[in-house]
Amino acid sequence: MSAPATRKYRPETRLVQSGILRSPFGETSEALFLTQGYVYESSAQAEARFKGEDPGYQYSRFANPTVSMFEQRMAAFEGAQAARALATGMAAVTISLMGQLKAGDHVVASKAMFGSCRYVVEEYLPRYGIASTLVNGCNLDEWKNAVRPNSKAFFLETPTNPLLEVIDIAEVAKIAHSAGAKLVVDNVFSTPLWQSPLELGADCVVYSATKHIDGQGRCLGGVVLGSEKFIMDHIHTLIRQTGPSMSPFNAWVLLKGLETLAVRVRRQTDTAATVAVALADHPKVTRLVYPGRPDHPQADIVAKQMRGGSTLVAFEIKGGKRGAFRFQDALQLVRISNNLGDAKSLITHPATTTHQRLNAAARAEIGVTDGLVRLSAGLEHPDDLVEDILTALKAV
Ligand SMILES: *Cc1c(COP(=O)(O)O)cnc(C)c1O
Repeated sequence: MSAPATRKYRPETRLVQSGILRSPFGETSEALFLTQGYVYESSAQAEARFKGEDPGYQYSRFANPTVSMFEQRMAAFEGAQAARALATGMAAVTISLMGQLKAGDHVVASKAMFGSCRYVVEEYLPRYGIASTLVNGCNLDEWKNAVRPNSKAFFLETPTNPLLEVIDIAEVAKIAHSAGAKLVVDNVFSTPLWQSPLELGADCVVYSATKHIDGQGRCLGGVVLGSEKFIMDHIHTLIRQTGPSMSPFNAWVLLKGLETLAVRVRRQTDTAATVAVALADHPKVTRLVYPGRPDHPQADIVAKQMRGGSTLVAFEIKGGKRGAFRFQDALQLVRISNNLGDAKSLITHPATTTHQRLNAAARAEIGVTDGLVRLSAGLEHPDDLVEDILTALKAV
């Protein structure tokens, strides 16, 4: 490591200066090591490396210098002891749970979460003998009541998708720990800039790097972070042996994405807050949720655990599905896409896209009404976005 990765530096500095493995050529921009394997200087060195006595690389499913740079930069940014990169956010979520659970265990998770995460917990884990209970994450009693003697993991996402409700990480961590379970937090919606789950008591943090970490809509990626012990006990070997590894090319793109993350996320958060102000009292908007506003349903928890708002705004258009579709179709600048965290502003109608798998009752339970849309603010000028949105509302 040529650059200090210590917590002495502020996040912006860590995003640029940590996790640099400079080659003998002394390049300023990190090198892309697009290689599957590594050669050894001697038979003895190969033997030592396989025994773990020589610290070099063996094979890129296990580790790769460009992927290591991305992992080290993520760990420095998050303030975690260790990180492992994966091919996608879903690989990160799945490995973070599968790595620590076995048949006979039980997992407690909040209901309001990214569609595929819910699918893993609700449909996949039970197929391998791991029971799950879904709770309303904002109700601490539901977490407590869901505990069973075999509860080994708690899983939550906050702010939640798509309604941006905020769950008290420190309180859920206490309940998990008193039950002898570990807490995994999907921190995608707030990004490491605004929320540090490990400091609040979580044991593991996961990201889809596809979102704000790339930030320009190019590559898929995922990361799992935690203590050295958590990563070595639960994550390290599972990735090496089952192979959901990140490609060096994607790691390189994401590593460079991290350099601009703080600048982008600050700007996108300010823009989302500006949009929220413009929509708050609009006659065609029947509900608006934005973390950081005093009217947010968990404003006190936002103030306690988040350092900033969100790059997303959730709001409900008058007239249900018809109103929401008319509004989305009338937008000129904001494009319809289920992705988020991109430089381009994107909007989605959860009831018919990301959450269409759930039946009407399950959607109602988590507040996904037919009029609800979720906007991901991009890097356009905020005034242009607000104009586009207000013009489109006239079509409703
Ligand atoms: C996108 C997303 C995921 C899944 O990540 P992929 O990179 O698409 O696999 C998981 N959780 C949240 C909150 C997400 O937004």
